[in-house]
Amino acid sequence: MPRSTHRRVGLVADEAGFWHQSRADFGPSVEPGVQLETPEARRRLLHLIERLGLRRRMTQLEPLALAEADLARVHTADYLAAFRAQSAGAGGELGDFAGFGHGSYEIAVRSAGGVAAAVRAVLDGELDRAYALVRPPGHHAEPDRARGYCLLANIPIALELARARQGLGRVAIVDWDVHHGNGAQRIYWDDPEVLAISLHQDRLYPVDSGAVEERGGDAALGATLNIPLPAGSGEGAYLAAFDRVVAPALRAFQPELLVVACGYDAAFLDPSSQMALTSATFGDLARRTIELAEELCGGRLVIAQEGGYSPLYTPICGAAVVAALLEAESETELHDPYGRHLHTPEQNLLPHQLEAIERAGAAAGTAPPTHDQHHPHDQHHQHDPHHRSTHHHEESAP
Ligand SMILES: [Zn+2]
Repeated sequence: MPRSTHRRVGLVADEAGFWHQSRADFGPSVEPGVQLETPEARRRLLHLIERLGLRRRMTQLEPLALAEADLARVHTADYLAAFRAQSAGAGGELGDFAGFGHGSYEIAVRSAGGVAAAVRAVLDGELDRAYALVRPPGHHAEPDRARGYCLLANIPIALELARARQGLGRVAIVDWDVHHGNGAQRIYWDDPEVLAISLHQDRLYPVDSGAVEERGGDAALGATLNIPLPAGSGEGAYLAAFDRVVAPALRAFQPELLVVACGYDAAFLDPSSQMALTSATFGDLARRTIELAEELCGGRLVIAQEGGYSPLYTPICGAAVVAALLEAESETELHDPYGRHLHTPEQNLLPHQLEAIERAGAAAGTAPPTHDQHHPHDQHHQHDPHHRSTHHHEESAP
């Protein structure tokens, strides 16, 4: 879509985030010190957008200095006190797959402050769009526990600050990290003003959340929208899910601000999942999101980085998203030597993937079935989080 106006795009990239130490415990078969979540993927993304000349076209933002009261709008006092105390010592673990080292409390506060700076600048009208390249990520963090490398709920903390200080009204979160956005779901379960959408690999992590039947509490029914996709899903499934379920839900909701929980771990080279996306699809998802933001909320869009564990490939996927934000795809020499020739059948929309998308669309009321709704596998595949006698899923790392 040609536009005549120059878009002002912000970037938060905080060096402190790269100094945070993740310490997930993978058990006795993995050498101590070997970690999935390291700074490298994000650091190399920053290097790549620098090398491509993209970074200098972005307005550099500093993280907001958040007070404990800002965190306490989302997290419990007990959790924050325990986190602060363990961080002041040798580090610790306050949940599952979310161990941390000395000093991580202050770094996590800066990470949430990075997202808050992006949200504030966009709501102020200082910028049109912003990208928060922060670490640690936040979308698994719950009010009273850390989960999946996430220590503080970056996006909800930023949104609650904006609601308190800037009168932010309806806001939509689109989480395309390959793991379920359980944090926003839990935090906003009863809040009809926040639409929390999650596209994720079905029952990956957390293994017991993210089913289509989870739609929000009575006061906010429909404001939680889960789109679990089968392992192996690629471009066809993701774009169909976006067009058939995500976009109609956003149009129906009419947000004032759009925030993306932007993980790159649905990429085919990511070690934490079994999906098949390439950098081109991340660019397509970003462009679709930008168009929806333009259509629905004056273009106000914040992209906050979540997962993505391939130091080799995450940077290329991230650069595709940054180029889309800058509308600089045509003049950017971004080569994807890995994904450009990936033509597996899973890149096309397959029948079992369409069934999953239609189930999510039917639950959301956004996507009427395009054919007779008969799913012969439903009896075996029904997603009931309380009854899993036919499937045993080991909890896997995010
Ligand atoms: Zn993830």
